[in-house]
Amino acid sequence: MPDDLYQRYQAAHRTHQAHTRTCSHCSGHDRCPDGQRLYESFARLQDAYLNHLKNR
Ligand SMILES: [Zn+2]
Repeated sequence: MPDDLYQRYQAAHRTHQAHTRTCSHCSGHDRCPDGQRLYESFARLQDAYLNHLKNR
């Protein structure tokens, strides 16, 4: 489970980065709806992962 969470967190990070690189609307703090959705799912997974590390 922890490894799975880490994998999903990394995957979400890569997906968001790839989107930001190719999207003309996403730059700095401006995000298109898609970019915002990807960012939020990345942030959620990152929080969950960091919480998991803290509570270990
Ligand atoms: Zn975008």
